[in-house]
Amino acid sequence: MLSTMQDVPLTVTRILMHGVQVHGRSQITTWTGEGEPQRRSFAEAGTRAVQLANALRDELGVRGDDRVATFMWNNAEHVEAYFAIPAMGAVLHTLNLRLPADQLVWVANHAADKVVIVNGSLLPLLAPLLPKLTTVEHVVVSGPGDRSLLDGARPRVHEYEELIADRPKTFDWPEIDERQAAAMCYTSGTTGDPKGVVFSHRSIYLHSMQVNMAQSMGLTDQDTSLVVVPQFHVNAWGLPHATFMTGVNMLMPDRFLQPAPLAEMIESERPTHAAAVPTIWQGLLGELTAKPRDVSSLTQVTIGGSACPPSLMEAFDKLGMRVCHAWGMTETSPLGTIARPPAHAIGTDEEFAYRITQGRFPAAVEARLSGPGGERLPWDGESAGELEVRGPWIAGAYYNGPDVEPLRPADKFSEDGWLKTGDVGTISADGFLTLTDRAKDVIKSGGEWISSVDLENALMSHPDVTEAAVVAVPDDKWGERPLATVVLREGSTADFESLRAFLAGDACRIAKWQLPERWSIIAAVPKTSVGKFDKKVLRKQYAEGELDVTQL
Ligand code: ADP
Repeated sequence: MLSTMQDVPLTVTRILMHGVQVHGRSQITTWTGEGEPQRRSFAEAGTRAVQLANALRDELGVRGDDRVATFMWNNAEHVEAYFAIPAMGAVLHTLNLRLPADQLVWVANHAADKVVIVNGSLLPLLAPLLPKLTTVEHVVVSGPGDRSLLDGARPRVHEYEELIADRPKTFDWPEIDERQAAAMCYTSGTTGDPKGVVFSHRSIYLHSMQVNMAQSMGLTDQDTSLVVVPQFHVNAWGLPHATFMTGVNMLMPDRFLQPAPLAEMIESERPTHAAAVPTIWQGLLGELTAKPRDVSSLTQVTIGGSACPPSLMEAFDKLGMRVCHAWGMTETSPLGTIARPPAHAIGTDEEFAYRITQGRFPAAVEARLSGPGGERLPWDGESAGELEVRGPWIAGAYYNGPDVEPLRPADKFSEDGWLKTGDVGTISADGFLTLTDRAKDVIKSGGEWISSVDLENALMSHPDVTEAAVVAVPDDKWGERPLATVVLREGSTADFESLRAFLAGDACRIAKWQLPERWSIIAAVPKTSVGKFDKKVLRKQYAEGELDVTQL
């Protein structure tokens, strides 16, 4: 028997219309670096999105599922593009401006982007690539920047404000099948070539509802969210869409992502929530320690993208900013788990232990663990295996070009269609995920696994260590052994013997056989385009003898 319910498609268009009408007074505030920030209501941004859609169609000839790329910071214009492009039926492709040039060219050509909307401040990065972007016909420039960099460019160049000015303020939005592509984003290539993940209208809609649930971020129109996680990194974790559903105000940092301006915008704009990867928070912590500011408005901080070191969580707790840890990946839209402790643990000794896990799966995300031989492992909090997930906002394949079968590599998708995450961990009986490593980062020493993440967290809890990355290096006797690379605080006199003793001591209790014997001081941990530790680079530096390594 079929239901008697209406079959209304779940679309980004609907989110836009709702945000404009019901939450029209909510604000997008974009930091400008000097003077007053730019302030724009959802109603204004929505109207401008309509005008942008008209311009893209009537002036630039965007039709059907043409790809319109953005090469932009987090700002109000980027939000306008986020809604205009999918609502008109086209596909938003957020280009990761931190990708190496050759990967950017590869990604834009692979997606066959027809238009690129770019922030003027990013023209020095984009302009040199344009001759190689074979499908791009139009470049639309928004915000301050040197336009002369585009002199002689092959694609036609437009000014964003001129392009949308005087356009009609209505658009006859097309009926969209909710399973159609709305946006695409390539993985950052930490583990090989970038792969295209294509989000549907339906997946974005459902994911936005999950982000808004009280046991996820749970924000309301009384909140202001400082969206530090880039809009080119998995849709800024879904925040622009989720906020238009609930009227949460957005504070956008544009290009001012350094610790000092972030601290300044928190003090002056008083956001209640913020979202970013651990590296950003580590930097902000240093800034706030050196120059205390009134950050009392900021009571909730979502951290994900890499494991949140417990020491960082504690430090932020002390400042009154409560960290909520979450796990996800481009392929999971990204919200996969979020660590809100269960009711029975609140106020008990268990609470912190729950908060430092990667978190609990929401109802729509099914999870299972796969052992080394492919066997299913129990949810007992002890059996560690590769995490596999499935659900309505989890990728089932990668984009492989128009009208061709999508890619389903066997190392990324199981035969029965689950996503193999490449992350290794345990799941407790009550559904909390604890990641011990990425499959390729785990250190296989004499038949046993050593978690690089555990060693890093332990090292980073040492008062003299600002950053630490541990990688597997080849070892004649054990197969692999850990190499600890550490960044020390200025003026620190800690030596490797004392760091090793610290790991073995009461504070960390790392088993003796897991203690690294190879150590190296580095100036900074190399980072990927989205601010994660780039262990590929460290392994290469070690292999090529570029690190100054001490063996204890
Ligand atoms: P890439 O795979 O190119 O780095 P993603 O941003 O999609 O790009 O990264 C997803 C990966 O980031 C996950 O598979 C996981 O390894 C890691 N990750 C994300 N969140 C967390 C977290 N809270 N703890 C540990 N690892 C995390």
